Amino acid sequence: MTSLNCFVRQEATPQILQNVSRYCAECYKEFSENEPLFYDMQHYRYLCSRCAERMAEQLDELCEVVEEPESPSLF
Ligand SMILES: [Zn+2]
Repeated sequence: MTSLNCFVRQEATPQILQNVSRYCAECYKEFSENEPLFYDMQHYRYLCSRCAERMAEQLDELCEVVEEPESPSLF
């Protein structure tokens, strides 16, 4: 199973589809409602599950830092 540390898993609510993104930033597939989406925290974009899994294989090492819960002063 692929680790998805780099991505925040969300569901495609009507709000996200209307206000944020209708299409996968990588393959331009149109999201359907309630489909799982993956927010790419490195690039500030939404990906479909297939692209997120593919990207996660390349990004995983970079993203471990982001996932650390012990850094409260990120912002
Ligand atoms: Zn995609």
